[in-house]
Parts: sequence; structure tokens; C-alpha cells
Amino acid sequence: MIEKRGKNVKTVAGTKYVPCEQCGENVLVSDTATRALCDLCIVKRNLNNYGWPQGTQLQTPEEVVPKPRGWHLMSVFVDDLGNVYHKGVIQPELEGTLPSTPFENKPKEKVKRQFRQSKKDKEREMLDKIWKEKTEMKKMDNARTVSVKQKRVKRKGG
Ligand SMILES: [Zn+2]
Repeated sequence: MIEKRGKNVKTVAGTKYVPCEQCGENVLVSDTATRALCDLCIVKRNLNNYGWPQGTQLQTPEEVVPKPRGWHLMSVFVDDLGNVYHKGVIQPELEGTLPSTPFENKPKEKVKRQFRQSKKDKEREMLDKIWKEKTEMKKMDNARTVSVKQKRVKRKGG
């Protein structure tokens, strides 16, 4: 049950929520609180005001070296940086001793989608065929019953 109490203050099952002043995310607060900042916005504000703490080492995202599908299953694979892998395990003593393995990453998603589409089309065709046969059978049945009725009527009349 959500009760609305005051402006933008919600109480859900006895706990009080107030929207964050910066981003609007609901923040769980005590009963007496009227305004709130969420944890993320507090961190952002502190970083803006005081910067990173001394001695912080920022992580730089690792560069992704392109590798072919199933590279970790190949007995020997050498990436563009010269790292040598034996069945996915890096061999540091062989680094730079072998030429990089040529490979081509083909987009597989499209092929899959086409296959699925063709499968769907086939299914639809089958259903259409069955539907047509059924309707034709019904028509024939109707025609037969009509003709039988007509015959009966003829017999009665005659
Ligand atoms: Zn926030």
C-alpha cells in the first residue's frame, strides 16, 4: 500500500521515502526527515567539492584485443600484441616469438535471424496449407450434406 503524505513523500508499509533532490531516486529516510540526497549524488557532490582522496589510483579500462570465436580452444593462438596462448592459457616465455594468428570474425547474428525467419515462414506456409485443406474439406462436406438434403427433399416430393 502506498500512501501519499505531503509533497512527494511516500510511505510504503510503514517506511518513509523521499525523492532525491538531485536525481529524483526514492531514498529511504527516518520519520522526521523531510529532504534527502541519495548515496550516489552524495559521492558525486563530494568528488566535485573535494576531488579524489590522496593516493587514489584510478583504474583505466583495459584495452580489448580482438580474438576469434573459440580462441581459447585453439592449441596455439597468438593475438595482435604477440601474446601466445596454448588452449587459452597465456605463455609469457613465448611472448613475441610467433606471428599473430590471422582470423576473421563473421557476424553470426544475421545468419541466425535469417534462419529463424525462414523457419517461421515455413511454419506459416504449412499452417496456411492445412487451413486451406480444412476449409476445402468443410466446403465439400457442406456441398455433400446439401446434395443429400436436396435428394431427400426430392424423394419426399416424389
Ligand atoms: Zn540522487
